[in-house]
Amino acid sequence: MSPASSVPPAAALLAWYDRHRRRLPWRAEPGEAADPYRVWLSEIMLQQTTVVAVLPYYEAFLTRFPSVRALAEAPEADVMAAWAGLGYYARARNLHACAKAVAGAGGFPRDVAGLRALPGIGPYTASAVAAIAFGVPAVPVDGNVERVAARVFAVTQALPAAKQDIAAAAARLGEQPEARARPSDFAQALFDLGATVCTPASPACGVCPWLGACAARRAGIAAELPRKAPKRARPLRHGVHFWLTDPAGRVLLRRRPPRGLLGGMTELPGTEWRVSPWAATEWLAFAPMRAEWRPAGQVRHGLTHFELAIEVVAASVPAIRAEGFLRPVADLAGEALPSVMRKCVRVASAA
Ligand code: SF4
Repeated sequence: MSPASSVPPAAALLAWYDRHRRRLPWRAEPGEAADPYRVWLSEIMLQQTTVVAVLPYYEAFLTRFPSVRALAEAPEADVMAAWAGLGYYARARNLHACAKAVAGAGGFPRDVAGLRALPGIGPYTASAVAAIAFGVPAVPVDGNVERVAARVFAVTQALPAAKQDIAAAAARLGEQPEARARPSDFAQALFDLGATVCTPASPACGVCPWLGACAARRAGIAAELPRKAPKRARPLRHGVHFWLTDPAGRVLLRRRPPRGLLGGMTELPGTEWRVSPWAATEWLAFAPMRAEWRPAGQVRHGLTHFELAIEVVAASVPAIRAEGFLRPVADLAGEALPSVMRKCVRVASAA
């Protein structure tokens, strides 16, 4: 980005937003005040997750926990169960801790620094909540804003090295008086432009309010930006999980330790997840009971830092005597099972 790059006019983006804004359940309608609880909840849910995936969870969550106080007072197991399937479960634990802190303090802090000090709120979320809920002139840089800023100023350096330059470019956008006069709308206008017009593979430049000022468009490199350094392949890990049922149609489950990967979530009992594959006799030492174990299927699942290959084995016994707890197979939808375990349940149920 050259210092001389012209800054695309905030007024044009805001005028476009006034006509084309997305209607989303956590958004205030024009003239309405934003609800900080809804804004914060949606921002936490949207981390690493698409709007389409979040929508049903958001509505169900809000029905179950209609206020930050209701969320703070709920048992952690209920919060984890409501979150099950959304992934990145540390978010749910932090969400609960944050709700307790906010309810205890009588409300959300209204500035970036105060929000940043709460559990689970990083620099992006603090800026987003401050701008959207409290009208603080801050430009939250998510993936959409990163893409738009990289393009309008033609930042050609690859991510992640380009992060600082792109953040500086986004801040330049927000310094314009029109943006500072409507921080909440300006932040959401940038989100919407990135989500609906300046999309990753094929930006619709012809209908873009910043067409005339966009440096990447002028240079013919819009779809190439932002450039990204090649990703390293995720390592593969192996595990075996046990589907143990009894004649009453119940299955054995256990709770993962409260901290760490998928902490506090429910799982089928299983081995650790390790780099080398498990030999047939080896995993038997981890079986919850002696039983006639038979193969039920395989599951592949990508977690943040590794790919997981799981062998599901199944057995039925007259009575289950093992560490863990029993749940009717028909009631598993309400359990706090992460996506990888839901896949295991599907495979075992179909076997
Ligand atoms: S002109 Fe094209 S590349 Fe530039 S901001 Fe608009 S949609 Fe994105």
